[in-house]
Amino acid sequence: MTDVSAEDLRHLRRCVQLAAEAVDAGDEPFGSVLVGADGAVLAEDRNRVSGGDATRHPEFALARWAARNLPAAQRATATVYTSGEHCPMCAAAHAWVGLGRIVFATSVGQLGGWLAELGVPAAPVAPLPIAQVAPGVDTVGPVQELAGEIRDLHARAHA
Ligand SMILES: [Zn+2]
Repeated sequence: MTDVSAEDLRHLRRCVQLAAEAVDAGDEPFGSVLVGADGAVLAEDRNRVSGGDATRHPEFALARWAARNLPAAQRATATVYTSGEHCPMCAAAHAWVGLGRIVFATSVGQLGGWLAELGVPAAPVAPLPIAQVAPGVDTVGPVQELAGEIRDLHARAHA
């Protein structure tokens, strides 16, 4: 359990909203927001895998957006907020493009437990925490008060 600021919580709540929109669209419940050092929201996205491309995670999309649109110094001071901790692919992309802090609402461990309870087959990628994939990235999470809502989104997505 992690204490976060009111501003962090506001961005995380937007991530949960994006995750809910993803479920409504037939995608998986993940949403992410990229925020600059001044607190301005620069970009946001949600999971878009239902079209058949399983790499369309929001954290990956934001890393590529940042590489295209932000100079390195601005990437380094930006924060990515996300409803679920980055998978190894997205943690690697985040680190390769030199983005800053990550604040996640729920952890890889929580997700694994929920998906097992829901009978979802194991993912083809090891469920490694960000710290193991990109040890230089400063991470904050999980945030306990958002866990129930996000667990419900996964239950709805896999009903
Ligand atoms: Zn991912």
